[in-house]
Amino acid sequence: MRRRGAALASLLLAAMIVLAAVVAYLLWPKSQAAAARPDGMAQTTLGAARMAAKDTECRSSLQQARQALQVHLASSDEPPASLDELRLPESMTRCPVGGEPYVLDPSGPTVRCVHPGHEGY
Ligand SMILES: [Zn+2]
Repeated sequence: MRRRGAALASLLLAAMIVLAAVVAYLLWPKSQAAAARPDGMAQTTLGAARMAAKDTECRSSLQQARQALQVHLASSDEPPASLDELRLPESMTRCPVGGEPYVLDPSGPTVRCVHPGHEGY
């Protein structure tokens, strides 16, 4: 019985060490080379994963805003004067990472994000 207790204690100790290592990996600040985002917003591995998800959200919102713009252009000869005319939900008119409002570029016409690193989305 005493031997079983010692085995359980050593198993718990090993599990706690592994858990501490995983938490340290996720929350430890990344090196400068690894944290090379143009906006410098992700400092940890967990933060980088969160920012990557928000980058994807921004791409998706821009794609939907551009589709709304195409629908508008198909039914009207004039491009919209502002993004408000597309009647998009408020969450799809701003970058989810930095909160900057999307910009209607009349040269395309297209919709762009001005957040650093999102220019090519
Ligand atoms: Zn963006």
